[in-house]
Amino acid sequence: MSLKTKVIEKAKDLGMTLVGFANVERWEDSDVSYVPREFFPHSIWDWSRTVIVMAVPMPLPILETTPSVMYSELYATSNRLLDETAYRIGLFLNNLGRRAFYFPRDCYGDLSVLVKKPEAAFSHVVAGKYAGLGTIGFNHALITPEYGPRLRLVSVITDAEIEPSPLYDKELCIGCGVCGKKCPKQAFTKREHGIIADMDKVKCAEHHVTLKGEMRAPCGICTLVCPVGEDRKMYGNNAITKTGASHVQDFGANV
Ligand code: SF4
Ligand code: SF4
Repeated sequence: MSLKTKVIEKAKDLGMTLVGFANVERWEDSDVSYVPREFFPHSIWDWSRTVIVMAVPMPLPILETTPSVMYSELYATSNRLLDETAYRIGLFLNNLGRRAFYFPRDCYGDLSVLVKKPEAAFSHVVAGKYAGLGTIGFNHALITPEYGPRLRLVSVITDAEIEPSPLYDKELCIGCGVCGKKCPKQAFTKREHGIIADMDKVKCAEHHVTLKGEMRAPCGICTLVCPVGEDRKMYGNNAITKTGASHVQDFGANV
């Protein structure tokens, strides 16, 4: 059995839904500068050869309640599952003689830090794109065919050379702009060119500070309202309007 198959089987046994592989050259090859060079995996650890990206979905019925204690609990639980699984996958690779460890999901310490400097130490969204899980949408989230942007991600960085997953050759974001329209802080501004919006990350972080004070962070509305994703079929196209989520009432034909 190949190392790639072993990792996929292990990750799925541990509860991961999506698993993809990116060779670090993909950060070099990109024609779009998503991240500065110092944030490349091989800038952080020069023995990095492959980034393994894993994801779990955010079920729509819970996301529909956002901002809520219920979604806040889901967020915390999914983060624990992702970190623990990524730790285990790193140890699994170590036991096979490969250097590896996981990069925790958020890694900013506290929201007050994000307000001052809204930068992630490592972008799992970019890693997810390079690992063939999806493309980056208007809302800066990873858009996947299976769950749209409604998932959480974590990455394992290893020196093992593993065949990379194929990339999507077209954007999965349909550019409908619903995420921008429904953002309570109007944090997104449409760019003249390209799919991805300009984002006021400080406005978003400040909103999260407020929600955290109310014990119902994070927000996630820009992922909830996205019409992309097979998960909508599981719950019904109009399921999101049934739980009192007034911010999703004008989906119209996009859902
Ligand atoms: S998480 Fe909420 S506040 Fe932040 S950009 Fe998305 S919709 Fe706006
Ligand atoms: S809501 Fe529309 S514009 Fe926003 S990420 Fe989804 S498809 Fe793209």
